[in-house]
Amino acid sequence: MEINNANKLKNFFKRYGVFVLAGVFVVAIALTITFTAIDKGSQVSTLNLQFDEPMNNAMIIKDYSDTELQYNEVLDRWEAHLGIDFTSDDTSVFSVLDGTITSVTNNSLEGYVVEITHEGGFVSIYSSLDENVLVEEGDKILKGEQIGNASSSATNEYEDGNRLHFCLLKDGVEVDPNNYLDLQNK
Ligand SMILES: [Zn+2]
Repeated sequence: MEINNANKLKNFFKRYGVFVLAGVFVVAIALTITFTAIDKGSQVSTLNLQFDEPMNNAMIIKDYSDTELQYNEVLDRWEAHLGIDFTSDDTSVFSVLDGTITSVTNNSLEGYVVEITHEGGFVSIYSSLDENVLVEEGDKILKGEQIGNASSSATNEYEDGNRLHFCLLKDGVEVDPNNYLDLQNK
């Protein structure tokens, strides 16, 4: 009986083997297309990043400008302004996206400066923070987590008042934060 069954199977493959192979081939292609589509879907969703605001109820006191030069009263010169200056009654400064703290520095012109590296080739830089920086290099940070407080520590732009000089880089180049942050809803 078993030999009989084996012969039946043999005959089946002799007759229909080509169709079986064709079937396997079609299923393989269908799976490849499906997984490629899923892969593309996840790529799109990770690049569709939702940025938070760096401050609550932030007011823009100096907007981004890469073409029109703006006058800097302190340094008495005209310059491009490759970031946005924010001020708010609440001086708390927040990460605009999940990421990793890649540097915390301090200099007399820019005050305390925190740099956060995010996915998608984005880096956000927060200048003019006070000395009470809440993060350290290497820390992981979530969107909306506080990193420090805006202050008047940067002496290169305004003489007094708390502010945050915020820059956003994409693939190492300054981009206009207005194109990424939803500032109209603040
Ligand atoms: Zn500025």
